[in-house]
Amino acid sequence: MPSSSLDVIPSSLDVIPSSLEVIPSSLEVVSDGSDFVHLDYAASAPCVRAAADAVQDLLPRYGSVHRGTGVRSQTSTLAYELARDVVAEFVGARPGDTVIFTRNTTDALNLLARALPPGTTTVQFDGEHHANLLPWPNPLRLATPSSPGEAVTALKTALDGLTGPVVVTVTGASNVTGEVWPVRELADVAHSYGARVVVDAAQLAPHVPVDLDDLGADYLAFSGHKLYAPFGAGVLAGRSDWLDAAEPYLAGGGASAAVGDRPGDLTWATGPARHEGGTPNLLGAVAIAAVCEALTEAGRSTLRDHEQRLLARLRAGLAGVPGATEVSLFGPDHPRVGIVSLALSGHDPAEVARRLGRDHGIGVRAGQFCAHPLVRRLTGADRTGACGDGVPGLLRISFGLGSTTGDVDRIVAALAGVLGTDR
Ligand code: PLP
Repeated sequence: MPSSSLDVIPSSLDVIPSSLEVIPSSLEVVSDGSDFVHLDYAASAPCVRAAADAVQDLLPRYGSVHRGTGVRSQTSTLAYELARDVVAEFVGARPGDTVIFTRNTTDALNLLARALPPGTTTVQFDGEHHANLLPWPNPLRLATPSSPGEAVTALKTALDGLTGPVVVTVTGASNVTGEVWPVRELADVAHSYGARVVVDAAQLAPHVPVDLDDLGADYLAFSGHKLYAPFGAGVLAGRSDWLDAAEPYLAGGGASAAVGDRPGDLTWATGPARHEGGTPNLLGAVAIAAVCEALTEAGRSTLRDHEQRLLARLRAGLAGVPGATEVSLFGPDHPRVGIVSLALSGHDPAEVARRLGRDHGIGVRAGQFCAHPLVRRLTGADRTGACGDGVPGLLRISFGLGSTTGDVDRIVAALAGVLGTDR
């Protein structure tokens, strides 16, 4: 580690607590004890104790949800529906809202996209993750503006004159820049035109409260594996009317209430079951619910303050690393979650990421992060991904509640070293 590299951390930031000092045991990250530094929370966050315990508790006792009369099945049905209630509370579900367990955010957004009334127009910005860019019908795609005010104006212009059902779908926080989008402002505009609002909360939910009403959202979606639960389960929450009227997302058992002898002679289930065809992911749902409860109990402001302190330290440190420039859309002071992407002048981000992993035991992500239009814009790359300096993509550093100042210092030092020697 080059001794000069840590000089880039201003001494004023040295007084912060190194890790979350008051973290409840339920939110401790389950670790293998190695000193590997995981700074790729935006891709998948590590599992916390609450989720691991909830899964462990059910492992010896589970059975099929909604299907059996035995004690295992009864226990499982109860646990599954309890998990739904907990998630409903976590997102502030209103009367008339529903919570559907999905596989992840991508699945949740695809489910909703297929449940929209015929002829729905979708308005979207091109800075979205592909999961929120590609599933939607009749998309009207707006260039992502460089200020929240411009986003509001662009949305008004787009909505003016649109007829029929309209959905505005927007990310809560960018998986590329970490910037928190002006969701509430955009939602107010959308609602004034009678449109509905979908919030992709994949990167928002792990960091800040996601209350449907506070966000002004009609729907929101997030993934368990980014919210400190294991893989395989996600959430779609929001207005039930369109979902209840739509064809089931997956035809099959669970989604069907009665099936006659002839093809087409059937009655679909109502409620969330309509879109949860097949045996549901009980352990995934229970893990998500356990994290939701733990996060609420811990108080989100403590976690947010910890992350914001780390973010300030990281950004201050990175500002002193030659050849690495932080990218942003909305200006340097716009609120953001613990995600920072860097353009590396003259360096291949993929190679730098490899060296960080191999030589420094630090996991980050390089590339275009399933947000090609946005990353192209931020890097000036062409459609094939080639940038002006021939190096496609960005390097992304992201963290969460298991992260420490030591992690931040290690990546800053390692980057200074790698970029210094990689010339
Ligand atoms: N939306 C955003 C903003 C994301 O960052 C991601 C994943 O990185 C997704 C959606 C898709 O999440 P998943 O892969 O869990 O479906």
